[in-house]
Amino acid sequence: MAFPTHTKYLIIGAGIHGVSTAWHLAKELKARGKGDGRDILVIDKTGIAAGASGVACGVVRNNYYQPAMRELMAECVAVWESDPKAFSYHPVGYMQISPEVMHAGCAEIYEQQKAIGYTSSFIEGEADCMKYMKGIFSDWRAKGITNVLHEKKGGYSNQTRAMYGLAGKAEAEGVRILTGVKATGFKADGKGISAVETDRGTIQCDQVIVGAGPWVRHIWDMLDLPKTVDIKGRDGTMHRNIPMWTYWCLEEGTLGVDPDLQKTNEGKMPPVIHVDTDAPLHSDVDGSLITDKMWGIYYKPDFHFGGVQGGAMPYKVETPVDKVAVDPYGPDSPDFIVGDDFAHMWCSALAFCQERFSGQIAKWKKEPSGGLGCFTPDNFPVFDRFRDNVYIIADSNHGWKMIGVGKLVAKELMGETSRILEPFRFSRYAEGKLHPTSSSPFPWS
Ligand SMILES: Cc1cc2nc3c(=O)[nH]c(=O)nc-3n(C[C@H](O)[C@H](O)[C@H](O)COP(=O)(O)OP(=O)(O)OC[C@H]3O[C@@H](n4cnc5c(N)ncnc54)[C@H](O)[C@@H]3O)c2cc1C
Repeated sequence: MAFPTHTKYLIIGAGIHGVSTAWHLAKELKARGKGDGRDILVIDKTGIAAGASGVACGVVRNNYYQPAMRELMAECVAVWESDPKAFSYHPVGYMQISPEVMHAGCAEIYEQQKAIGYTSSFIEGEADCMKYMKGIFSDWRAKGITNVLHEKKGGYSNQTRAMYGLAGKAEAEGVRILTGVKATGFKADGKGISAVETDRGTIQCDQVIVGAGPWVRHIWDMLDLPKTVDIKGRDGTMHRNIPMWTYWCLEEGTLGVDPDLQKTNEGKMPPVIHVDTDAPLHSDVDGSLITDKMWGIYYKPDFHFGGVQGGAMPYKVETPVDKVAVDPYGPDSPDFIVGDDFAHMWCSALAFCQERFSGQIAKWKKEPSGGLGCFTPDNFPVFDRFRDNVYIIADSNHGWKMIGVGKLVAKELMGETSRILEPFRFSRYAEGKLHPTSSSPFPWS
């Protein structure tokens, strides 16, 4: 097929957001008699799922302290549930297991989940939490836990399988996904963009959609958008020249045990477990203190990864943002993969939570894992229009679970305004319309 020189909708990035937007947009166009998937071209410099969507742990949860995030996640979970087979989605549920410092926040989340009809239960008090957890896993022993939020919906999905399922749906609607094509610049026409320059030629287009994941900073620069922002704080004070983008490195890995090891007392596949605690963490190898600060981990048995897979708190990359080498990405990166320290901490943390993991560190899979995420100034997504006809989906690394964002963006591209996406506009920084922050040790909770 010849290299295209024109398309109505040009999507940059074949990750979860680019492909979900393409699929939903194709359906919107058809339903409204305004065209179909043949009006949409997705380009990717590498391939489908070559970015964060190809390395994500795949956890799908609603547990967010921010009401706007929770409402958005409920929309997204509905999309996951619409075709679990195609999306390789496992609706096993999700548990946020927390210390006292997070109690009030989690209680609020529970109340608001009830209000939006998102099924969950909330267990309070150290003894009741221990009893509840032992009822699921007889070897449960995590300390410092005073509240458990058990989401009955959500779970996880297998990233590459889900991505190919999603791409199949978009292609079945007539969308063309062209891989090995890199966007290198934009041609402006007045305020708007008339064409995207690529390393294979120029493609004229009416509308650009950017779903570039950790590379969003590069596209942002190509569009001449501001490198810093002014943010109005909650007390009205303006904070000037805050960098627009920051990189964090996500640390994840797999303990190569039989995934069945993590089955529940009833022999079922368990919910995804997320534990935060302020109890000191000691080494499962030699008993030495690993940390006495607040820490957190998440994990699930996963046949796709071949073991019990999960991660811990990410760390901020201190290199100036323009100098961070995003490529080669993920497991191919020489800089942003996990090392022995992470393996030691995470396996010890697993053993802290459940006795069955004690003495298992030798089964840690020594394969490169982890990856970079590109975060916004407040660590929450930006979904907005720029330069008249460029729609940017910058999820601040919240986004595997956000398969439904493309559905809402597709409606906005048809001229509707999504109430659910409104709290994620770029203008919130200058206007001081910031999301509340939680006391979790993770930047995305
Ligand atoms: C290790 C790790 C674990 C994670 N775990 C979870 C999780 O459990 N749950 C969760 O909800 N989220 C998770 N996330 C976050 C989630 O993976 C991302 O937020 C999400 O996948 C981003 O999707 P995207 O479509 O925006 O970007 P990506 O999936 O990164 O896709 C962007 C695509 O754009 C392409 N591209 C970039 N620049 C160009 C260009 N100039 N021209 C053409 N193509 C270009 C890239 O090749 C890439 O394929 C995790 C992230 C990491 C790194």
